[in-house]
Amino acid sequence: MTETLPRVLLIGPPGAGKGTQAQKLSEHFDVPHLSAGDLLRAEVEQETKAGKEAKPYLDEGKLVPEKIVVEIMLKNMFWDNPKTGFVVDGFPRNIGQFNQMQSHLKEHDETLDCVVNLQLSEEEVFRRLTGRRVCGECNTNFHTEFRPPEEPGTCDQCGGALKQRDDDTPETIEERLEVFENESKPVSERFEKEGIQVNVDASGTIEQVFQEIRRRVERSQ
Ligand code: AMP
Repeated sequence: MTETLPRVLLIGPPGAGKGTQAQKLSEHFDVPHLSAGDLLRAEVEQETKAGKEAKPYLDEGKLVPEKIVVEIMLKNMFWDNPKTGFVVDGFPRNIGQFNQMQSHLKEHDETLDCVVNLQLSEEEVFRRLTGRRVCGECNTNFHTEFRPPEEPGTCDQCGGALKQRDDDTPETIEERLEVFENESKPVSERFEKEGIQVNVDASGTIEQVFQEIRRRVERSQ
């Protein structure tokens, strides 16, 4: 591995493990984890102008308007941390966001190292999302079946209370999968054409998938 810090994007369907893997990669490579969903949920919680506008979209599992999300993500990825590494999860999620990010990269002579496309069947997505529990304090993900906390309802990392995300209900999961199919899949097709995407089977254990992603990221640098 070279001395430079990697710039990685994680894309893929909801429930593929983007958040879990991004957190592990961020610790391993010592770079910030920038989750589009977490950053939007923080805006909602703080009741900012952007948060108030974004809330109904999050509640319904729809994509938040491009203007809001692109500004938040570009600020966190580039303006606040020029020329440093990051692991981004959940951005870009449609072609408009992809185009805006590409224009920014071109204009500012910035590059990405690797786009990791996590692949998982719809059936598995459902199992994962309905059992997901998230720490209200540090956002660490758990799962009732695959990654149970040592003490039920309590985060292993910080002791915070675990809760189910409002958008992890069967109806909202259906909507999010449809959005993924129609809007986000074309983004991975574009990254594939650009030649910086690696496809990773996300059906293994957290550790197996992590080791595979880590290898691919190191190879990309
Ligand atoms: P996630 O935490 O990645 O599952 O995202 C949760 C929700 O946040 C999504 O269903 C969208 O409502 C919103 N969201 C996350 N990332 C984006 C994005 N790149 N563009 C628009 N909306 C997003």
